Amino acid sequence: MKVLVANLGSTSFKYRLFDMESEEQLARGGIDRIGEGADSTCVAEIGSNRIEASQRIADHAAAVQMCLDQLTDPESGCLKSVDEVSAIGFKAVFAGKLSGIHLVNDDLLKAMESLADVAPAHNPPYVKAMRQLQASFPEIPLVAALETAFHDTIPEPLRMYAAPYHWAEEYEVRRWGFHGASHRFIGTKMETLLGSNDAKVISCHLGGSSSVCAMRGGKSQSTSMGMTPQSGLPQNNRVGDFDPFALRLVKRLTGKSYDELLDELSSEGGLLGISGISNDLRDIEKAAEGGDKRAQLAIDIYCADIKRYIGQYLAILNGADAVVFTGGIGENSDVVRKQVCSNMTFAGIELDEQKNQTAREEGIISTEQSAVQVWIVPTNEEIVVARQTAQVVKGE
Ligand code: ADP
Repeated sequence: MKVLVANLGSTSFKYRLFDMESEEQLARGGIDRIGEGADSTCVAEIGSNRIEASQRIADHAAAVQMCLDQLTDPESGCLKSVDEVSAIGFKAVFAGKLSGIHLVNDDLLKAMESLADVAPAHNPPYVKAMRQLQASFPEIPLVAALETAFHDTIPEPLRMYAAPYHWAEEYEVRRWGFHGASHRFIGTKMETLLGSNDAKVISCHLGGSSSVCAMRGGKSQSTSMGMTPQSGLPQNNRVGDFDPFALRLVKRLTGKSYDELLDELSSEGGLLGISGISNDLRDIEKAAEGGDKRAQLAIDIYCADIKRYIGQYLAILNGADAVVFTGGIGENSDVVRKQVCSNMTFAGIELDEQKNQTAREEGIISTEQSAVQVWIVPTNEEIVVARQTAQVVKGE
């Protein structure tokens, strides 16, 4: 069975194709600038072949068509025909209590649509693309993996806000948690790496979106993102946790509406908002090295918040066996890892500076004396979604 896993942005489509018997990744690729009226770069890496095309791509259905054309190319492709694709799996984000793995149908799309204002960066592009794909490829089952389900194991006191009780019951206002596929992957992987199925692991998924998750035996015990993916740690351009009552003051002083202010917080906040430079940590680190104070402040705020969550989770788990860094930032930024792990010897966390600077792939970056191991583990959310998609297709 072959499963295509799609990762959608409002103007981008990234994918991986897996053979599910061997779990081998057969191909990966991506298309940018979808629907922008300009030429898109359509890249496919199939085995050792890299195919690149430049073409105008009107929408996500056209993007998937382009991807399938590249994958079935008689010369360089890896599929004889599109029929070989058993399903397309989506790392979908939020459909409230319709959590878990679902065949994409009208109920699911409506649930996602009804929460578009709560997850504005994530739900609208997925719903739009899923509708287009349903129409264009009716023969390929579409499966949505809503990984809020991974956080179903969080105990009630850590799930609920201290808002009026009926908000949780009637409006489903609670800490749902996100990045479930990544934290699930790390939890499972750490069971193998630590040789224990009861390990206490703090997983730091740091990337365009970031969250920290406390896990015991691979099960989520608490996580930093709450009701929406806007919350928790500062994100690339989203604020993270914030006191909602500050909005009243800013509304009064600026005359802007709550919607305008929320849009501002979710597009001009986070690393971008503080640094005023970029939403990409690489640019911010470069500027900070050059002496830019706001760039340094953005890094400091981000790291302080990650440290704060690690501290909470050490308390919740009664210590930890491992702290894991993953995601684009977690896997690549020795600056962030060093700052987060500094002054943590009280908790038995001691980073090996040399290993931290040179590590590029999976491995331990703490000293031999460190009671808590610190790891870099590249995440693989797509294989989690592919496994879940295959389960649905097989009817398991
Ligand atoms: P997403 O959450 O969108 O999937 P990623 O997990 O790929 O994103 O993380 C993307 C982020 O990783 C980039 O915005 C960039 O800030 C950061 N990043 C990637 N490489 C490096 C690096 N070498 N040093 C610092 N940050 C990096």
